[in-house]
Amino acid sequence: MRAYNFSAGPAILPEEVLEEVQSELLDYKNSGMSIMEVSHRGKEYSAIHEETISNIKELLNIPDGYSVLFMTGGASSQFSLVPLNLLGKNEVADYTNSGAWSKKAIKEGLMIGNINVVADCSSEIPTRVPSISECNFSNNAAYLHITSNETISGAQWKLFPESNVPLVADMSSDILSKPLDISKFGLIYAGAQKNLGPAGITLVIIKDELAKKCSDEVPTIFQYKTFIDNNSLFNTVPTFPVYVLCLVTRWLKKQGGLSEMNKLNLQKANKLYEIIDRSDFYKGTAVNECRSLMNITWRIQNEELESVFINEAEKNNLKTLKGHRSVGGLRASIYNAFPIEGVNELVSFMNDFELKYG
Ligand code: PMP
Repeated sequence: MRAYNFSAGPAILPEEVLEEVQSELLDYKNSGMSIMEVSHRGKEYSAIHEETISNIKELLNIPDGYSVLFMTGGASSQFSLVPLNLLGKNEVADYTNSGAWSKKAIKEGLMIGNINVVADCSSEIPTRVPSISECNFSNNAAYLHITSNETISGAQWKLFPESNVPLVADMSSDILSKPLDISKFGLIYAGAQKNLGPAGITLVIIKDELAKKCSDEVPTIFQYKTFIDNNSLFNTVPTFPVYVLCLVTRWLKKQGGLSEMNKLNLQKANKLYEIIDRSDFYKGTAVNECRSLMNITWRIQNEELESVFINEAEKNNLKTLKGHRSVGGLRASIYNAFPIEGVNELVSFMNDFELKYG
């Protein structure tokens, strides 16, 4: 039996996608080989590569002048690659600090250049993202970096800051969960293992113009320019993760695209926030206006009951509801692929649990 897997990442994938992977694993389209065993420049993989890029461009309505890249090293390597490529020696980059992941991006940025933290609400509880009005922007920053969804604390930007400098966003945990106006962004990056596919690739969407800024002193493999000029095939791309991502993008198109995903994501998250808010037994950990649609975080008033909750939930096939080890509490990650039936099961479990222990 498949579990309702609330893991924050690597996370649940659409069952249909896994079945398709399984059905063509040994013999990809009568080639007699697995897609994992063929050249990254051969016809089978090339078709996958091109379709994945084209599906992402279609799903996000990406305008001309932007490239879709497949990189490695996870979102964590982007913490360094962004300033290495985009931050000149005499420039400053603005960063908002909204929690654990912003903090890591800032730490790496500081190793490379001048970073101005424009607002810091990272230690506040309940958690939130900064409001635009409290941000102390630099004059003429090289870029502004935000973390669109703090996976650990469950705080999410609802309206992106409007600014005249390129907006760079770590969207690891909410990419492809809703439509976006890409023209507002200079660069978006996301590790694949939450909303996109298996771990192993990092999706980057970049305005080509911005990539030209990189100094020639940066090693070739670390320049976005190299990936743009070589269509992400400068070196061997992780073919299998791109293949699974291709199937996920097909699945997303079949579901009706990102507007439909957004509707469903809202519906799923609201069901959980409703039960969290209904009594004092549960309490949400993010400020209402910043509540994430992807990572629902909450505590039980009597915190000693949290481990009982996790154990009993496991027995009911509701897996990995434990909050991140750094903050404790409970977290339900309900990315695109998480089925609404699983949310209903969790709601009903939460009801019963409250009746039993409340
Ligand atoms: N940013 C965010 C928002 C994340 O949630 C994560 C992973 N949980 C990371 C960055 C780090 O990603 P990776 O493990 O791919 O380096």
